[in-house]
Amino acid sequence: MSAPQPPAGPVHVALHTPSHSGMGELLSYACERPLPAGTLVRVPLGAREVLGVVWDADEAPGGLPEGTALRPVAGVLEGLAPLDLPWRRLVAFAARYYQRALGEVALAALPAHLRGLRPEQFARRLRRPTPPADAAAHTLQQSVALTTEQASACARIASEPGPFLLFGSTGSGKTEVYLRCVQEMLQADPTAQALVLVPEINLTPQLEERFAARFGASAVVPLHSGMTGPQRLRSWLAAHSGAARIVLGTRMAVFASLPGLKFIVVDEEHDPSYKQQEGARYSARDLAIWRGREQGAKVLLGSATPSLESWHASRPPTPEDPGGGRYARLHMPSRIGAGALPRVRRVDMSQQPRHAVLSVPLLAAITERVARGEQCMVLLNRRGYAPVLHCADCDWKSDCPHCSAHQVFHKTDRSLRCHHCGHTVRVPRHCPRCGSPDIRPMGRGTEQLEEQLCSLLSEVLRPDRTPVRIARIDADTTRAKGALEQQFAQVHSGAVDVLVGTQMIAKGHDFRRITLVAAVQPDGALFSSDFRAPERLFALLMQAGGRAGRDAVYMAAQGTQCEMWVQSFCPRHAVFETLRTHDYPAFAAQQLRERAQAAMPPFSHLALVRADARTQEVAQGFLSAASAAAHAAALPGLERVTLFPPVPLAIQRVANVERAQMLLESPRRAALQHFLLAWKSVLQATRHDPAHKGLIRWLVDVDPLEI
Ligand code: ADP
Ligand code: ZN
Ligand code: ZN
Repeated sequence: MSAPQPPAGPVHVALHTPSHSGMGELLSYACERPLPAGTLVRVPLGAREVLGVVWDADEAPGGLPEGTALRPVAGVLEGLAPLDLPWRRLVAFAARYYQRALGEVALAALPAHLRGLRPEQFARRLRRPTPPADAAAHTLQQSVALTTEQASACARIASEPGPFLLFGSTGSGKTEVYLRCVQEMLQADPTAQALVLVPEINLTPQLEERFAARFGASAVVPLHSGMTGPQRLRSWLAAHSGAARIVLGTRMAVFASLPGLKFIVVDEEHDPSYKQQEGARYSARDLAIWRGREQGAKVLLGSATPSLESWHASRPPTPEDPGGGRYARLHMPSRIGAGALPRVRRVDMSQQPRHAVLSVPLLAAITERVARGEQCMVLLNRRGYAPVLHCADCDWKSDCPHCSAHQVFHKTDRSLRCHHCGHTVRVPRHCPRCGSPDIRPMGRGTEQLEEQLCSLLSEVLRPDRTPVRIARIDADTTRAKGALEQQFAQVHSGAVDVLVGTQMIAKGHDFRRITLVAAVQPDGALFSSDFRAPERLFALLMQAGGRAGRDAVYMAAQGTQCEMWVQSFCPRHAVFETLRTHDYPAFAAQQLRERAQAAMPPFSHLALVRADARTQEVAQGFLSAASAAAHAAALPGLERVTLFPPVPLAIQRVANVERAQMLLESPRRAALQHFLLAWKSVLQATRHDPAHKGLIRWLVDVDPLEI
């Protein structure tokens, strides 16, 4: 029996208060016993009761007015170790850096299912035994003998502090390096934990299988948004308690509570999916670097086409450029068990018949491959049948009434669909403006490409004299649960000869019989206003090319060589020149020169402020006013930050909301942070100025990916 505790002063709790409510970062509650920081509690908020995290007193709000009666804590989620200081520091850093409320980030970092559980329900949940791991499922797979390149990468990771950038070709055995490093670290320390991040949900099962085969199913837990609430809670608890040695997940997993964290892997570190695009717009890769440094965990980034930021950070230091070497660069150029990288063939589309979908030589190449029983993959990064329907008589176009965008023509269900707001109508028979029956699709999407391939290849026979089988995979064919897995399984089983699809088909899949990959219309990215578009295109094409010729035994048996085809109106563009020789370093060097000249990242640091309003004037007016107020107040950091004038977004109106943005640029990250911190209250005050009444919302995107 313990003696009754004296009242223990207020506790300060981080919780998700309504945004712009004007409430402080932390709210104070009365509690009759001291609660350590990191304890999960339920507290009253207005008429509701919500989940919160007890926070460190030194970040608490200033003194409360004398005699303020605090509402008491309603309940404590017992039986759970408090969230540790490194976790709280990570959350506090992310909130500060990405300009969001602490409570919002803290609560978003916890499994949503916890929010709904009352203390007694939670206690019951904790008592429920976790199902025993499937002991018979795996005889643990022995690790393979490493190649020289893998062994030297592992040796450096073991002996240096990092962070590391593992620059390895597709199929060079990066995953094996992850497995080996994790294995050595877990063996050396019985309480150590590892975090493995992947960009996409549909890549987690494959990787989970490889980790489970090596470490046993009970050691590995997944964490991603495709799981149900209870599943996520189970994984989260296993990570928090230390029962799980490895957490494998998408960007959200960077916030997992991992008391024993010693190693973090970020696979395909260049992938834009690591950036959260709503709420706190964090970069899981950047937070992984920060978390690793703070918590003493080694961080390993891996990619065949690293982000230019990571590539630049890993440049070798020289006396003239001592800023290099922030990351250790590990190079693995050789592909294991796979043939050479595909030979790249460029077709100059200006020399082809107008409106040709597939150039003559590409069609011939596909035909030949199919006749030999090989698989082809044709990439077109636009779904639907055609991006717009057009009237030849009056020039009417299928514009979305709610957005500054066209409605896309989908032939399968005869609909016109806006890909921005979802507005859908049936395809009209006549022009809605002039009544002409002569309305036609303009441009081409995957549906049309599939249809045209079917007709162009209709006479082509496979080696067993059966007709060619063509399939399409994109967001439209994979809406149903399980459809994606099933369609990929079909390709794997060899039931498809020609696969048509969007970028979805380019990532990660270990197809065995694909010997030809074609990008039929990649030019759009060359003329994009977004300075990162060439980088994304290069990565996509390299990744797509990496799907070809993955099985050297098959390639040798076929006596064949793999090819990557690119159809372009500017085949001599630097992106394609460097792609031809698979020369990422040359591509990166060329891009970095341009970025340095234009003072773009990684040579500067950016933030965007976005404003949404009923009219473009109000949206831009708000941004201009906030900018003027910053200058009038001579806010700290401003001398090193450039505020550009507000401009409409590329797609200016979505769902009847007008959108504008303003770019901020600084040569110093710290100056930008300093300024943003000071500017926050100015933005809030400006928002409440009646002059900006039509403003719907504003938000800050630090280190934005798309401009
Ligand atoms: P990456 O992740 O770089 O694309 P993977 O790790 O998936 O490459 O390796 C490509 C293929 O080579 C896989 O089938 C893998 O099992 C095999 N592999 C990797 N390392 C070795 C090794 N040391 N010896 C034999 N096969 C290996
Ligand atoms: Zn018309
Ligand atoms: Zn729309």
